[in-house]
Amino acid sequence: MKTSNPLIFTPGPVKEFPEIINVAAAQTPYFRNQKFSDLMLDNQAMLLDLVNAPDGSKVVILTASGTAAMEAAVINLVAPTQKVVSVVSGGFGERFSQICNVHQRHCDSHRPDFNEDLSDSSGLLPYKAHDALLINGHETTICHHFNLESVGKFCHQHDLLNIVDGISMFLTDQLDMTSQYIDALLISSQKGLALPPGLAMAILTPRAISRLQPNPATLYFNFNDYLSNGERGQTPYTPAVSLIIQLNARLLQLKTDGGLSTSISKTAAVAQYFREHIQSLPLALYSTHMPNSVTALSITNGLSASQLVSDFEQRYNMILCPNGGDLAERVFRVSHMGNVTIEDTQQLITSLYDYFGITQ
Ligand SMILES: *Cc1c(COP(=O)(O)O)cnc(C)c1O
Repeated sequence: MKTSNPLIFTPGPVKEFPEIINVAAAQTPYFRNQKFSDLMLDNQAMLLDLVNAPDGSKVVILTASGTAAMEAAVINLVAPTQKVVSVVSGGFGERFSQICNVHQRHCDSHRPDFNEDLSDSSGLLPYKAHDALLINGHETTICHHFNLESVGKFCHQHDLLNIVDGISMFLTDQLDMTSQYIDALLISSQKGLALPPGLAMAILTPRAISRLQPNPATLYFNFNDYLSNGERGQTPYTPAVSLIIQLNARLLQLKTDGGLSTSISKTAAVAQYFREHIQSLPLALYSTHMPNSVTALSITNGLSASQLVSDFEQRYNMILCPNGGDLAERVFRVSHMGNVTIEDTQQLITSLYDYFGITQ
């Protein structure tokens, strides 16, 4: 059942839309002109709308991968004298703590229990006098999805700046900057947006903007410069022009296709279909609070997860996502983001039955 183009189920890059891929097959235009500014302003407006950002919110678009948005958020939004708490449940949470260490910000790591999604935020009470909270709304390494309403309410009540990495939730799981009291939301191009990697975005509410460091120790990532240039639809340095044009096409596509709710319910349907149809296989859902965007599975019959991932590429031309570290032999992941359809997912399910030698 080998096809030439591999079917890709990794949580970034994800399966892209042919019509959006085609947009990039063109000469890159010059960008310091009104035409490109208009497109940038259009992108900003559509992004703000998609996450229900409060009035006066702004978008910073960086030419970088998602981690840059995480690092830039810490540099720009946390003063060296302030204290932050980082919610850590996996590799991306560790990364936030590491960023704080590199930039010498006082950071306490809060490590919730494996089954805890912070619906009960009382575990955060020891940090209520801190200045900011860092959280990966969905910790992609283990597919652990936090209750962002509850976390947001805690931050709102105790006046912490709520900095949320929503990179592997945007367009697939509920993200609402107003009802979830998110002050700074970080996203990137290669997850739910289903674009190539290379764009990272920080969406800042007026509250976050009022807390920007006036002179952060960075040139390229100084948010103040992005905001002042952004007023006229420009960036301080050459942006990933072709990705920004693809972003515009993708945002317009979303708008025509029914917006955020359609995108979320489409992903939820694919995730649910997958999870329901693998129940007679020696696989178990790894986490108790899974998002729609990705499924983490552990193998229950002793076969190696890393072997399964490499066998799937060889035998079925399908790219699944391995886990690292302690989980490498036990856990692998399947993404449902972007243009992955029920039909693609059915092909994967059929191949899993074949692999385990079980009749469907
Ligand atoms: C993918 C991802 C990132 C970004 O990683 P990059 O490799 O820098 O793009 C950050 N946080 C989460 C939760 C992610 O899933």
